[in-house]
Amino acid sequence: MTTLPTLLSDVMSGHRLTEQEAERLLKATGRDVWKITAAADEMRERRAGDIVTYVRNQNLHVTNICKNLCGFCGFGRKATDEGAYCHDRDAIQMQARLAYERKVTEICLLSGVHPGFTLDTFVDMMHWIHEAAPGVHIHAFSPDEVAHAAKRGNIPTPEVLARLKAEGLGTIQGTAAEILVDSVREVICPRKVPTADWIRIIKEAHGIGMRSTATIMYGSYETARDQAEHLGLLRGVQDETHGFTELVTLPFVHTNTPLYQQGIARAGPTGREDLLMLAVSRLFLDNFDNIQVAWGKVGLKMTQLALLSGANDLAGTMFTDDVTGDAGASGSDYLDPKDMERIVSDLGRTLRQRTTLYDLVK
Ligand code: SF4
Repeated sequence: MTTLPTLLSDVMSGHRLTEQEAERLLKATGRDVWKITAAADEMRERRAGDIVTYVRNQNLHVTNICKNLCGFCGFGRKATDEGAYCHDRDAIQMQARLAYERKVTEICLLSGVHPGFTLDTFVDMMHWIHEAAPGVHIHAFSPDEVAHAAKRGNIPTPEVLARLKAEGLGTIQGTAAEILVDSVREVICPRKVPTADWIRIIKEAHGIGMRSTATIMYGSYETARDQAEHLGLLRGVQDETHGFTELVTLPFVHTNTPLYQQGIARAGPTGREDLLMLAVSRLFLDNFDNIQVAWGKVGLKMTQLALLSGANDLAGTMFTDDVTGDAGASGSDYLDPKDMERIVSDLGRTLRQRTTLYDLVK
């Protein structure tokens, strides 16, 4: 077997990692972890430079009522559950106005997949948001929500996407990917779209010029082999469409989730796994410019180490994140750019605000 230094040196010279090699790197222990993160940091410097970016955004929660009730989620509820809510136009516009006053450039919808929502509901929501926050980029609707709207309206997904785009959707969310391996999805999110549909809908969005994020939710039930397969699928899509803006790495937050409470999932990834996920993603995804660390899920100190392990983007200011909070994380709501500046300048790097599409804000 190739030694680790040789493999890393080959990658730095342009070798494209195989999924088997990625799996091997994801399983590394001891000082090998630092060798891999150091290589990823060098690759980050080559591909993204020394600028660390963030977007001034706000999450907007519409409802926590969800048809999927995924086992890894502490946020989604049945309509009859205690604490279930679904905001009306006034409440949505109040949140959007607040976001506008906070000078965000992006509003990100973070909601359950309400069984009663249709394509018209999605369009109405976008209109209300644009009315209250004119000019703000709307980042919303995962492939699972697109599939839901298509099913409810008995219309093909390309039509759903075309209408969403025409009515003002800026970018589609690459969420609901979790782990794109059906045997894992059957355990952690059996009601979500299967892998093939997720890939098809994302490609349809990219095909009409609507870009998206890519995500991986790791550290619950899947193996390193599954993680590598997931990254392989994302790289394959990006080769075809170049439509992904970034990879968002999402560690599983376990505390209040059925999967953890039933002993099916483990207690989320360790710090070693967090750093290796970022580093291996940076090395494996040779067609992605941006690798994002989720500060709300890993904490500020780990976020700083992530910036030394391949990450170049700090996601957004968010202001609120009930999805992570309800799963059991604390301090996941708002990160002041001043605190971002502190950890970034401490590394000798430069913090810059960006738009959703990674244009730097002057
Ligand atoms: S992860 Fe999303 S789709 Fe799944 S239960 Fe939670 S809110 Fe619903």
